[in-house]
Amino acid sequence: MGERNRQFNLSGDWTATGDDKRMISLLNKYNAAVRNTHGWRVDLKCGRCGSLGMPRYEGWIQGMAANAGDQPTIYAKIACPQCGNRLTDEAGTKLDELFRETPVPEKNNRIIGEFIAGLFLVPLLFACLLYVGVQMGWWGYNAFLILAASAFFVQPLVMIMNYRVAMLRSQCECGHPEYLFMGMLGRNACYRCSSCGRQLRLRD
Ligand SMILES: [Zn+2]
Ligand SMILES: [Zn+2]
Repeated sequence: MGERNRQFNLSGDWTATGDDKRMISLLNKYNAAVRNTHGWRVDLKCGRCGSLGMPRYEGWIQGMAANAGDQPTIYAKIACPQCGNRLTDEAGTKLDELFRETPVPEKNNRIIGEFIAGLFLVPLLFACLLYVGVQMGWWGYNAFLILAASAFFVQPLVMIMNYRVAMLRSQCECGHPEYLFMGMLGRNACYRCSSCGRQLRLRD
């Protein structure tokens, strides 16, 4: 009973320590970097009334999984300003047309390659450490905990990869990067710089 009360008080009076704050600000930075700015700033032709122009952007759908294969997925809710028709199919066709020939940047592929290498190298490093440690008598049964700990490196590796891929859209040749996330084409995210129209196809 006393224990429970103390726990309750602890959580009630909880304040972030210096380390917590540093961790939180790091996570905030990470979240800000990988966050997508949704939008749609490309003309579309309405399939119902036939009018051509900039559609009306009405937000985006959260938590929608990407379509399988090479199919486009449009998260943006966009509508024809003339008749109100939802233009998801038109946008999907347009996205496919715009990005089908756009290659994933070489740098992006290199980041993925390094991530995969890391997935093999980190456990290998731990295994080596384990082996040497056992030989030298550094640790006894704790050794297996060290091997298990290597599994926790996957998440930071994924985060580092996501961050590095996200950094690719933090700059643009035009000097005013403003990448809007237009949707997915297969497993690739499609971005367009609103300042200059440059297209970027990224994978992570
Ligand atoms: Zn229309
Ligand atoms: Zn640009």
